[in-house]
Amino acid sequence: PLGTHKIVFDIIEFEWAYIEQSTLLFALLFSWMALGLAFSLQEMRKNKIAYNKVRKRHRHLEKVNSTLRTQNYEFAELAHRDALTGAMNRHAVQSWLDQQARQVRWGHDSFSILYMDLDKFKRVNDKYGHQMGDDILREFVMVIASSILPEDRLVRWGGEEFVVFCPNTNIEQAVKKAELIRENVEKHLWVHGELLTCSIGVAQMQNERVSETMARADEVLYLAKRNGRNRIEVNYGMQKQSEVAIEVS
Ligand code: GH3
Ligand code: MG
Ligand code: MG
Repeated sequence: PLGTHKIVFDIIEFEWAYIEQSTLLFALLFSWMALGLAFSLQEMRKNKIAYNKVRKRHRHLEKVNSTLRTQNYEFAELAHRDALTGAMNRHAVQSWLDQQARQVRWGHDSFSILYMDLDKFKRVNDKYGHQMGDDILREFVMVIASSILPEDRLVRWGGEEFVVFCPNTNIEQAVKKAELIRENVEKHLWVHGELLTCSIGVAQMQNERVSETMARADEVLYLAKRNGRNRIEVNYGMQKQSEVAIEVS
């Protein structure tokens, strides 16, 4: 019949094998050790992941660092070079020039300046355009650079005016160098296919400031222009006033 049923157990017996106390202890010890080992392994894995992360980050930072270093170097280089021609800019030689002036003052070294300017350069721009003018300026730098020594410094002083600073160079050597540059410019095959020349003012540093030597070189550059261009003129200053300016071409 429907309804609730009741089952009555008289007895419930559990049966299991008898475990010796030592076995039980051993089993406990073993499971405890196994647990410990598992836990340690888990910890090691976690540490390894963390370690790899740190290493990866470290490598990344190293890479960033080295990129920044090269970039910094390039920026420093750029800051010292004229972007159009690759010649140095004034800023690049400032402290070096002061140092050279000291050497001259102490009588340890001779130092000369070649101040050069392309002749009738405006014509090139007018006839062939500014782009061609820029190309020719780059070429001009190339021609000068191939005519000077590694210790000389070629600086774009502004526009189409360039200065070569020559350490350990007296006026006679400077004149020779200027003459070589003038000749190389004159015989160079220019990209626009026309003849192009330059004029150069030469001066050796005496007991004076760099700016004063520069002014003397500039003075005779102007003289070279007035005397017909494609020539060099020398400013002997107080040194050898008896000497006349060297006439070239
Ligand atoms: P000269 O020096 O023989 O007296 O004649 P010039 O025609 O060269 O006269 P000047 O030195 O006065 O002219 C310089 C010209 O150089 C004027 C300017 O347009 C040009 N110039 C200056 N800087 C640059 C430049 O970066 N690129 C180009 N394309 N032209 C430049
Ligand atoms: Mg000029
Ligand atoms: Mg000029």
